[in-house]
Amino acid sequence: FFFGTFTLSYDMQGATDTYPRTRFKHVDDDLLCCLCNGVPKNPMVAPCQHVCCPACLEGWHGCCPQCGASWSPQEWGPPGRIVQNMYKKLDILCEYSTSGCDFSVKFGNLEELDEHLAHCPKAICRCSNEGCTFEGPRDTIELHEQKQCEHRLVYCELCDTAVKYNAIQEHKTSFCPMMEIECTCGQKMLRKDKEAHLLRCPHRVLVVCPVAGCGQRIPQGDLETHISGSLSMHFQLLSVATQERDSTISRLADQLTQTQKKLAEAEEKIANLEADKHEQSWYGMGLWRRDEGCRNVWTIGNMNQRLKDATLKHQASAQRQPGCSVYVPILLWSPQYYTQASFGYRFSLCLNISVHSVGLFIHLHEGEYDDQLPWPFNLDYTVQLGTIQSTITQRDSYMHYTSQGRPPHELSWGWANFCDLNSFKEALQNDSIEITAYFHASHASVTPHHNGVAAGMPMGQHHYHQQGVPTAPQQQAIQSHQNHKAPKHHPGIHPGQMYAAVGQGY
Ligand SMILES: [Zn+2]
Ligand SMILES: [Zn+2]
Ligand SMILES: [Zn+2]
Ligand SMILES: [Zn+2]
Ligand SMILES: [Zn+2]
Ligand SMILES: [Zn+2]
Ligand SMILES: [Zn+2]
Repeated sequence: FFFGTFTLSYDMQGATDTYPRTRFKHVDDDLLCCLCNGVPKNPMVAPCQHVCCPACLEGWHGCCPQCGASWSPQEWGPPGRIVQNMYKKLDILCEYSTSGCDFSVKFGNLEELDEHLAHCPKAICRCSNEGCTFEGPRDTIELHEQKQCEHRLVYCELCDTAVKYNAIQEHKTSFCPMMEIECTCGQKMLRKDKEAHLLRCPHRVLVVCPVAGCGQRIPQGDLETHISGSLSMHFQLLSVATQERDSTISRLADQLTQTQKKLAEAEEKIANLEADKHEQSWYGMGLWRRDEGCRNVWTIGNMNQRLKDATLKHQASAQRQPGCSVYVPILLWSPQYYTQASFGYRFSLCLNISVHSVGLFIHLHEGEYDDQLPWPFNLDYTVQLGTIQSTITQRDSYMHYTSQGRPPHELSWGWANFCDLNSFKEALQNDSIEITAYFHASHASVTPHHNGVAAGMPMGQHHYHQQGVPTAPQQQAIQSHQNHKAPKHHPGIHPGQMYAAVGQGY
């Protein structure tokens, strides 16, 4: 025997391919490999004309397996052209012929078989659905993929979402938003509405027990059970709550009574303030100075404008009280001053501008030095306006008001008709008026410098209060003379009547 290595003489791809004879419609036995009985794509032939496939020959010692003739490996070789043509003319069947494919191709055109395999209806394919391992003939795989595969996508008939067939049941029971579900409270709803339902689900929403004093938080659905099961406790709570409510009601009733009382007081106050509006006053007008003769001089500027304003106010008050022939006087109050500038009795002057005349009054106020001063006040005083001058001896006329000592309230004396309005206007200098007031030891007889007799009468005692709603100039004046007080007139008594009670001036 010859031992050696058979060297493959074909170097083309697939040179070693050998096909079982069952793949062929008909094969002459002479064309089969005498070792494996297959049909070689590239047969090797020995000089004895016996055939082997290259794979079987590899490692074979060389002698013919069929007839035993002794050949060296080098003596095997490809068959001649005629034999090769016999091979090429063989009909090789599709590898799926046993599954029913009857496609065949000439052995010489094997590449056509590869093309066929890509479409062979009997070729085994894998299911294309994700997760499926099923394999089957191509002509049935479509049926599997679309109708039988557990992994095929189907559409949920409720929500129209694509879901794997084997998960559709789980989808419906656990996920499908359009599936009808039932809440523990018994309410039926689509799954997508559950979240909204939970916000008002009687099993989830806690309510406070409405029984007064109980206040327990209970799921809404359990409230009825709670109420019917807590009758005794609720009854006790209710009787306590009723007592508390009764005391609250009586307390509120008291408050209501007090409020009504306050309201009535406030209404009365408003009525008084309304009445006070009729009085037209400016406070703290002008400036005081002390001249060389130790006389107190009150200077008021801007008088033309003030007189114009006074006229307007007179007209306005006449309109407010149609048919009333008495005009409301316009009052100009001086700042408060001391009789000796930095000592003495505290006083102020009040200029009373009426439609045709001007009145002048001196008011005595509580002052810093009252404790060091003799009481009752018994100084005479002289008032001069331009060339008009008048003196009042107070000694007799005020005695009965001050016999108890210091006056409990401010007192005033003066002239309701000190001069007529025209004389007043003539006394104006550079839009200002100067009024001089000086105090001197009393004397028995009065010699008026002007025509007339100074016979001032003390005014009655009045109630004093801050004015209601001051005008802008009043506001300024009040701020700088907070202490100043002015008489209040009783509603119904016209200010003009009060001044009429004062004795006539000069
Ligand atoms: Zn073989
Ligand atoms: Zn042979
Ligand atoms: Zn086929
Ligand atoms: Zn499948
Ligand atoms: Zn669904
Ligand atoms: Zn519910
Ligand atoms: Zn309760």
